[in-house]
Amino acid sequence: MVPFLDLRKQYHSIKSEVDEAVLKVLESTQYVLGDEVVAFEEEFAAYSGAKYGVACNSGTSALHIAMLAAGIGPGDEVITIPMTFIATVSAIRYTGATPVLVDVDPVSRNMDPSQIEQAITPRTKAICPVHLYGQSADMDPILEIAKKHGLHVIEDAAQAHGGEYKGRRCGSMGLAAGFSFYPGKNLGAYGEGGLMTTNDPEIARLARMYRSWGEEKRYYHKLHAFNYRMDGIQGAILRVKLRHLETWTERRRAIAAEYDKQLAGLGLELPVQVAGNRHVYHIYGLLSPDNQDLAQSLRDKNVQVAFHYPVPVHLQEAYSDLGYKKGDFPVSERIASMELSLPIHGDLDDAQVAVVCDAVIASVEERKAPV
Ligand SMILES: *Cc1c(COP(=O)(O)O)cnc(C)c1O
Repeated sequence: MVPFLDLRKQYHSIKSEVDEAVLKVLESTQYVLGDEVVAFEEEFAAYSGAKYGVACNSGTSALHIAMLAAGIGPGDEVITIPMTFIATVSAIRYTGATPVLVDVDPVSRNMDPSQIEQAITPRTKAICPVHLYGQSADMDPILEIAKKHGLHVIEDAAQAHGGEYKGRRCGSMGLAAGFSFYPGKNLGAYGEGGLMTTNDPEIARLARMYRSWGEEKRYYHKLHAFNYRMDGIQGAILRVKLRHLETWTERRRAIAAEYDKQLAGLGLELPVQVAGNRHVYHIYGLLSPDNQDLAQSLRDKNVQVAFHYPVPVHLQEAYSDLGYKKGDFPVSERIASMELSLPIHGDLDDAQVAVVCDAVIASVEERKAPV
């Protein structure tokens, strides 16, 4: 069986380092924030090419404090995409602002910059591109449009740890960015976790206050805010795992290259790494009109697969009040109806990759054969 994720295998490969780090936190009694979290904030910000890191209890809260620190609130509009995990839109909604959606580009499957300007209104305050699946959005035109119209850019980098755009790291290009350390992400905590990056000292200062009860000084509350702090244990674990992240990322990239090679010419639409990007392959998603049947066939051959994501945001029940309807974002809807994610992670070995490739090839051949 080839698992979609294998967090136990990963844990066992770094067990002694992780166990030691956790025990150190237990002994220190720094259970919320503390030295390990501060050190992790500095190390992860540096890894992402940003000046400041503000550690949180989830990627969603990191995005939320980024938007609050940018001054986004009720009456404002934030432009983002429907082909994303729901949290992008939830974070916008938490501030009281309205998400405004634009479709994605069929090749990159990320925000289509040519659609942004027609979505701008006098209420637009920010653009929130998503570096979906681990590949950067096309940031130069997005930043240019933002500058021209006086808008903030807040990156949803929840899937793109170490991803790059023309040599710049995801999380370093906009006013601020949100990363997630949900266990299944490229850098995962052993519980929930997230972090906001920024190069702006004032945004960092405000975000720290929004993360922790609006305090700058203990028990003096300047802002109506939240309890979004990272646990000390998660900070310590993430520091250990950050030291292995590049190795795991290079392994993901090697697996993607192997899938690209082995699965070419089968009539499947494989993911495209856009020139100038360093794709970190949080997800390796192929598109096929019969993705459901293909998934069943792969499961029958002991390969675990997943769908990212079966329903785009504008067709989710929770956001029906945004007023969109089927047909509004044809590229996103097409991806949602055809996407199938293959196993890809740092602990997948060559034999497992071969099993996946053989299973996909056999499944495609079987369904081509006359019945
Ligand atoms: C995971 C994810 C988030 C939210 O992160 P959590 O840590 O789960 O709160 C936001 N956006 C995208 C694109 C994600 O994949």
